Formats: sequence, structure tokens, C-alpha cells
Amino acid sequence: MSGTINAIVARERDGKVAGKLEQLAVTDLPDEDVRVRISRSTLNYKDGLAVSGRGRICRRLPMVCGIDLAGEVLESRDERFKPGNRVLANGYELSEKYWGGYAQQQRLKGDWLVPVPEAFSAEQAMALGTAGYTAMLAVHAIEDAGITPDDGPALVTGATGGVGAVSVMLLARLGFRVTGATGKAEGASFLKALGAAETIGRDQLARESRPLESETWGAAVDSVGGTTLATALAQTRRGGLVAAVGLAGGFKLPATVMPFILRGVTLRGIDSVMAPQDQRRRAWSALADRIDPGRLARISRVAPMSELPSLANDILDGKISGRVVIDVNA
Ligand code: NDP
Repeated sequence: MSGTINAIVARERDGKVAGKLEQLAVTDLPDEDVRVRISRSTLNYKDGLAVSGRGRICRRLPMVCGIDLAGEVLESRDERFKPGNRVLANGYELSEKYWGGYAQQQRLKGDWLVPVPEAFSAEQAMALGTAGYTAMLAVHAIEDAGITPDDGPALVTGATGGVGAVSVMLLARLGFRVTGATGKAEGASFLKALGAAETIGRDQLARESRPLESETWGAAVDSVGGTTLATALAQTRRGGLVAAVGLAGGFKLPATVMPFILRGVTLRGIDSVMAPQDQRRRAWSALADRIDPGRLARISRVAPMSELPSLANDILDGKISGRVVIDVNA
């Protein structure tokens, strides 16, 4: 095992932590059981925070960034994996405590790996990535609560983002009338092409809300947090569920207990990072069944790993619609 690999490595440089393209020796990789040749990774909001250094994601340095990866097993001391197996990984504190997917190879624990569903290429799996798999966890939470399209329309906030766009596709496919809340002028046509019935401006939700507002949504997937999540809760119908996924608009929750105690609304947190394997495999298998490859291609594009430092700022500045797949070999 010799040679060098390209990787985006976060280090402290001039008093600031940020990720840059570097060459590492294969022998520098951590001593984990499964060595994977990575072909694709992807860009998530959290990756933007890690690579730009605008959020404190990397808890150890140097850190190979990237919370997602897909590739092929090269060698394994874990009997569950053989050379040639197609695998992916999401979360599990990659890019936080453990070296992640922005590299041409990585060594990983077998417990972190999920087989790439037959239906997907590595590129399609990463067009979904953590954002898509998290959207599926949120939609499963809605389905598991017994909520159906008969219970009312579904709201998706941060709708043109990764979690949002995939949530729109999945909820529309289940038959929900989906409203996408977006701050982007071009958001309406993008979201309608994914199956949204209508769009509303992000400002309609990102405001101080009354404890209870007109009952509107049967279910919601929220990527934004803050006043947006509070307004979504205040507008959720009796017995409805809001899946709290993200904090693109803030981590505070200026809400009251009224939706919970007067309408029986459920606020369900979604944690993709440490979700157990059975939930992950269920989510990936459902994505393989339910995602239309044509629509997936419409929301994703491929960029080389060398562009990550600028893409990291773009995603944090809300300049990216849909998903960016990272070709780690370009
Ligand atoms: P993206 O950047 O792709 O999407 C976020 C979207 O939120 C943007 O596209 C934009 O959509 C909207 N947005 C951005 N800034 C603001 C703002 N200041 N106020 C209101 N809306 C804003 O990120 P992801 O989809 O990858 O992630 C979304 C959120 O979910 C992030 O906070 C991320 O950290 C979190 N997350 C959590 C996971 C978990 O396990 N719980 C897993 C994955 C992500 P638009 O322009 O359409 O309004």
C-alpha cells in the first residue's frame, strides 16, 4: 500500500481553520478496518461550515473533511465487506472526529458502511447524500406517524436546498400537495418541476408568529429553524407533525407550547449523524424505490474537489439550489 491521494484537509493556518486541497500519503490514513476507493462525495451545508471554517465542525486537526462518500472496497479486515463491494457512508461524525469523504481513499469502520443500493450509481447516491437520506428519514417520520395526504398539505422550508428539494420530491410522490417555502426568485419553477404544487416566500414564515395561526399543514419538513419553525408549528393542523431537520435560519426556537397542548402537534427531531443502521438501510432502500432518476439529475450537478473551498462559501451564502456532487478524482 503506497502512493499519495488528494484530499481536502482542514488545518489551522494563520490562526484560522479551513480546508484546502493537499496530497496525503495512503499510509497517513487512520487504522480502520475497511479501505475504500472513493469515487464521489457531495456538498452539504455542514461541509460548507467545515471547509470554510465558518462553523466549528472539525473537532480534531488535521481533518479530512466531507460527511459523505461513495466508492468501492479495496481491502477489508471486516468480514462483512469484500474488495469490490460498493459502499457509502453518511455522518457518523465524519469530518468531525473521523476523517471523511473528501479524499480519493479513506479507511473506515465497517459499522459506518451501507451498501450502495443496486438502483444507484455512486454519483446518484451522492446526488442524494446526507441531504437526501435525511429527507427520507424526515418523510419516514411523517409516514410512521400515520399522516397521509388526506390530513392536509405538506410544507417544506429551505425548499430549494438539498434536504428541501429531496423532501419536495418524496412528499409529492406520496401524493401530498406540497408547498415549498423559498427565498430564491427562481425557486418557483425549480420546485414545481420537482412536484411542488405551489411556493411561498420565505418571509411569510420567517417572522414573529402568533401562538396559534390558521390550521394549514398536515405535515412539515423544516431545514430552517428559528422563527420559520415556530410559524410552521403555529400553522400545523390538529394531530400534525413537523420534522425539525436544520438551522439554516437559526438555532433558536421562539415558539409556545400552544400547538402541542391545544392541537396535539408533534415536533419530531431528525438526527441523521447517529441514526442506527436499520433506519439508514430502510431510508436508502426507500430512496432507491421512490426517487425518479430524471428528477434527481435535474437537481444535481458534478463539481471537482478543487472547487470545494469556493463552493463551501456558496452553500453557506444560500447561492446553491439542489445538490452538488463532488468528483474526488477531478
Ligand atoms: P442547503 O444549503 O442545501 O439548504 C438550505 C436552504 O435553506 C437554502 O437553500 C435556502 O433555501 C434556505 N436558507 C438558507 N439560508 C437561510 C436563511 N438565513 N433563512 C431562511 N432560509 C435559509 O443545506 P442542506 O439542505 O444540506 O441542509 C439544510 C439544513 O439542515 C442545514 O441547517 C443543515 O445543517 C441541516 N441538516 C441537518 C441534518 C440532520 O441530521 N438533522 C442532516 C442534513 C442537514 P431557499 O433559498 O429555498 O429558501
